[in-house]
Amino acid sequence: MNETASLRARAEIDLDALRANVRVLRARAGGAQLMAVVKSDAYGHGAVPCARAALEAGATWLGTATPQEALALRAAGLGGRVMCWLWTPGGPWREAIEADIDVSVSGLWALDEVVAAATEAGLPARIQLKADTGLGRNGCQPADWAELVAAARAAERAGTVRITGLWSHFACADEPGHPSIAAQLAVFRDMVAYAEKEGVEPEVRHLANSPATLTIPEAHFDLVRTGIAMYGISPSPELGTPADFGLRPVMRLVASVALVKRVPAGHGISYGHHYTTSAETTLGLVPVGYADGIPRHASGRAPVLVGGVTRRIAGRVAMDQFVVDLHGDEVEVGSEAVLFGPGDRGEPSAEDWARAADTIAYEIVTRIGARVPRVHLHATPAES
Ligand SMILES: *Cc1c(COP(=O)(O)O)cnc(C)c1O
Repeated sequence: MNETASLRARAEIDLDALRANVRVLRARAGGAQLMAVVKSDAYGHGAVPCARAALEAGATWLGTATPQEALALRAAGLGGRVMCWLWTPGGPWREAIEADIDVSVSGLWALDEVVAAATEAGLPARIQLKADTGLGRNGCQPADWAELVAAARAAERAGTVRITGLWSHFACADEPGHPSIAAQLAVFRDMVAYAEKEGVEPEVRHLANSPATLTIPEAHFDLVRTGIAMYGISPSPELGTPADFGLRPVMRLVASVALVKRVPAGHGISYGHHYTTSAETTLGLVPVGYADGIPRHASGRAPVLVGGVTRRIAGRVAMDQFVVDLHGDEVEVGSEAVLFGPGDRGEPSAEDWARAADTIAYEIVTRIGARVPRVHLHATPAES
């Protein structure tokens, strides 16, 4: 038994699987570079070790949502290009410029702030102009593009910024044939062509997330931004299973069975008594709950592998624990309850949990809480 076996719960992160997934995605992306999207603590997998492993496997860019996440990667000593895209007034623009981070600009307010920070820092900012080609979230509307491009070009001529990228994001890349895909591609091409006509010489033009990397080659351009697929999860079950794409799930979530006991028939289980034993039986207590990111919505539904058999959660998921009905089996206390993993040892997948909780597998892995230690397997010496 290794020391991690005694933990209440752990999320094992298989960095070899992550490296292999990055290689598969690079091959899919053809000549395009790969940005490893490690926002939100690498979708719950641990940002720094995952970023390192991705760079080792050939990713050349790291992507985060917030500037704080990007700065944390630099603080951990990570090289390569780093880009972040979710800014609010006040920055930290100057810190990002000084840490050599590419920053996304969706509007004039952001351009004004980054120009001011670059002037103060005495360094040009690397900016990437984001186009809203149809997602309707962040990004510059086509009607406002000429004004943003003109202002960014003026700043570039003045030496305060360098426009390194032109980019956008898909709304429905996980729904093959959705009419918005072709529409967004056409708008992106137009907006890129306009900016280039105005003198922008981007190093990278990029649009593809995981589903587009896997299924829309004409969206690859110079760089693909992969998140979920790198963690070995299919962007949507309709597109295929991870195995269909040669991907392997990276996270395995395990808890140590905390109690096994015999109870009579007719015994109510957990808050609200939404489950009642139908006969004398054995129960297993699994010591993780919604505080650990286990969705309460999966109460009574989600599968768990205990004692080599797939069980269902009996009754409600509580803050710190839930119960499974072992139907008379005598499982040893301290044995593994596997909530999800790659699936080749009979355990459920994150996708199974997503179905049970009426959500997507992205949310299942990303929500696993800070109270669950991440145990990184197959780190190279430089990583541990
Ligand atoms: C999260 C994110 C991605 C990665 O999406 P996946 O579907 O996980 O590959 C790419 N680009 C942007 C802008 C994102 O916010």
